[in-house]
Amino acid sequence: MIEAQTHTTELTFDVEKTRKDFPILNQQVRGKPLVYLDNAATSQKPQVVIDSLVRYYTEFNSNVHRGVHLLSEQATEAYENSRLKTQRFINAKRSEEIIFTRGTTDGINLIAQSFGRANVHEGDEIIISGMEHHSNIVPWQMLCAEKKATLRVIPIDDKGEIILDDFEKLFNNKTRLLALTHVSNALGTINPIKQVIETAHKYNVPVSIDGAQAVPHLRVDVQELDCDFYVFSSHKMFGPTGIGILYGKKSLLEVMPPYQGGGDMIKSVTFEKTIYNELPYKFEAGTPNIADTVAFGATIDYLNTLDYEAIHNYEQELLEYATGRLSTIDGLTIIGTAREKTGVISFTLDGIHPHDIGTILDTEGIAIRTGHHCAQPVMQRFNVPATARASFAFYNTKDEADVLVNAINKVKEMFS
Ligand code: PLP
Repeated sequence: MIEAQTHTTELTFDVEKTRKDFPILNQQVRGKPLVYLDNAATSQKPQVVIDSLVRYYTEFNSNVHRGVHLLSEQATEAYENSRLKTQRFINAKRSEEIIFTRGTTDGINLIAQSFGRANVHEGDEIIISGMEHHSNIVPWQMLCAEKKATLRVIPIDDKGEIILDDFEKLFNNKTRLLALTHVSNALGTINPIKQVIETAHKYNVPVSIDGAQAVPHLRVDVQELDCDFYVFSSHKMFGPTGIGILYGKKSLLEVMPPYQGGGDMIKSVTFEKTIYNELPYKFEAGTPNIADTVAFGATIDYLNTLDYEAIHNYEQELLEYATGRLSTIDGLTIIGTAREKTGVISFTLDGIHPHDIGTILDTEGIAIRTGHHCAQPVMQRFNVPATARASFAFYNTKDEADVLVNAINKVKEMFS
């Protein structure tokens, strides 16, 4: 029986109470209480977010921006309110700096196809790091192939940290962009992005941050970071799938060409000439994902009721506890031991394939992810074909970490 516990942070964060907000957690899987440790792939949704989706479709489903009737006005207001909530959530200066996309991948492709195609030319260079998700590699590779530009890669050390001395050496007068992840999905490393952004700006190079794994764990202030772009996905931060956010500085977005053409992104169209709409609509062609955007607003409302500092302390305590317990297992190697980490523990077990670990843990009701985690270069760097990855959210408990450890010991017994 898994009991959600309260810990030393209980005065400001009560995990037991919080777990009740997430109905999916309270179920049996394969006859065992569900232990959901696949949060880096997607997180679970609180009831208020589910309710928001149902309410949208039950009460005011309608297309936005075009209708003069009441339902359309209500849908438009709710949709635009989500933009304002997002602006406040990441402390953007202006609401038109918030572009709704399908997700992180879509946001990065937008930057590559719009900013990238306009600013990267033959012989130019783009810097990424050795710990990027494929979503922050492939769009830049495609751009480089088209423009005959070069991708430069910041190396990572044995702990899974970027090597800062090597990083600065990559800049030259051909560097057009730095695209870096805030937090690695495969290693859990939190990159020192404020410092990195400052360095890039010294060379007049704009910075695009992939925040997919950061926003669920850390408070992000885009003005304080001074990043030029910041992208993330709702579904990894307890919101619905199919909606993502691209933050961009107005000065950059304004001069960038549209990514896609269609309805809503235009002011006027004749066969001779189209005049594009203003920000943010210039980048939101076609009917957007209204329902999920509205429910994303409810997600932000929910997150605003939580004390992020208390959550951060709780998650760090959980990470330390789980890391300590897993480290006692003979033959288990943790891949990614950076000094600053979120609750991601990637590991291998001597002589046992990660897929076998994942399949056996599933029979114990434990959901983890196994494979290359869409970060094959990270696997190559650490010389492993794949890892097993347990990724924690604020609703996970030390008891669940214990269940994981016991199940891994069972896996070992089965293979001994
Ligand atoms: N970047 C990172 C660091 C990720 O972890 C992920 C998803 O796992 C992505 C990008 C892609 O996000 P999405 O699939 O929501 O577009």
